[in-house]
Amino acid sequence: MAPMAAALVQGSPCVPMHATSPSCLYSSQRCKVASVQTFYAEVNSFFTGQSLQLITAPPRTFQRSRTARVVAYTKVASLPLELEAPTEPPLNTYKNKQPYIGTIKSVERIVGPNATGETCHIIIDHNGDVPYWEGQSYGIIPPGENPKKPGTPNTVRLYSIASTRYGDEFDGKTASLCVRRAVYWDPELGAEDPAKKGICSNFLCDSKPGDKVQITGPSGKVMLLPEEDHNATHIMVATGTGIAPYRGYLRRMFLEDVPNYKFGGLAWLFLGVANTDSLLYNDEFLGYKQKFPDNFKYDIALSREQKNTSGGKMYVQDKIEEYSEEIFNLLDKGAHIYFCGLRGMMPGIQATLTKVAESRGESWETKLAALKKNKQWHVEVY
Ligand code: FAD
Repeated sequence: MAPMAAALVQGSPCVPMHATSPSCLYSSQRCKVASVQTFYAEVNSFFTGQSLQLITAPPRTFQRSRTARVVAYTKVASLPLELEAPTEPPLNTYKNKQPYIGTIKSVERIVGPNATGETCHIIIDHNGDVPYWEGQSYGIIPPGENPKKPGTPNTVRLYSIASTRYGDEFDGKTASLCVRRAVYWDPELGAEDPAKKGICSNFLCDSKPGDKVQITGPSGKVMLLPEEDHNATHIMVATGTGIAPYRGYLRRMFLEDVPNYKFGGLAWLFLGVANTDSLLYNDEFLGYKQKFPDNFKYDIALSREQKNTSGGKMYVQDKIEEYSEEIFNLLDKGAHIYFCGLRGMMPGIQATLTKVAESRGESWETKLAALKKNKQWHVEVY
């Protein structure tokens, strides 16, 4: 708990509250607070963006009595822990020929007005029938015919799951996706051509609560979170929606009280997007940084707002270069490193890592081979 929130909670033990909340994340007491503004800034800075119910307005009584209902941060403990029981991750429970029919719970645009493009956080209800592990993907089959093969259904598209196995509502019945709407910019028209927009991403971003969605999977093993060592270091590099698996990891590390995974290591997130408005789940990550400063580091690269040391656009690889000494030392001590997002991110990153290795008198080729052999190197790009 941050000092301010800790200071706010005084006296008797916290009691569970928030019957209407999807989780019992909050506990409450009445107590004296220094200033209602600081209180709400503190609490909301942690909780916003997490699909959880917030107290959004100061209680009236505060004005009169200088007391308020206080929410205190505790990890979510009421989880269906039977989801921890399997020793192997679920794989392809539902296949293309017989997909599971899930239901859209919510679709929320999660970028600001000046973002480059639209990204949505989509919660899908699978009723607990399509369990998955952090770092896996779902396949989505959009409705309609495959335009390339008329008479046949649309083909499946993969999406990394952005929640933990418990879902954003902590009941094990939902999965969240972070989907960027694919649009086609026609250079000749100087405008978007709606006839060429991406089929599945637009279907998902346009869907409404209650709509049905065909799900396959879960799939993928390469981005599973290695959990043998609770004190391991995890260096996570994302561009755009590549953030999805890391949101799941970080919620598991910092938000959920999972008895068999007590994270005490270091999670270091590098996120690259175009500008501030394009940042994804920023409030959640800032919350972890504030609450767990020894266990979480967060660095962002804003290509259209920041400049690198050579005066060019700031990309994630520039941030990696900035911290290369520390990163290489952590890798030498067994850290895991993950890359997720657009395929185009990898050449620049590889070039930077090669350059850094050379400056240290090392061969990147040899180092990379060793990282792969030790299962420290995890890449999922698309
Ligand atoms: P499609 O209909 O498949 O079209 C693809 C592109 O072609 C679009 O940009 C479209 O505008 C363009 N296009 C269409 N017609 C034409 C034409 N005639 N001429 C030229 N261009 C055209 N995406 C995410 O947003 N979030 C994720 O978390 C995510 N995770 C993934 C994980 C994995 C493992 C993989 C492999 C992919 C992931 N993707 C993710 C990408 C996702 O699977 C889709 O590829 C993406 O959403 C685009 O699919 P779509 O159906 O919208 O576009």
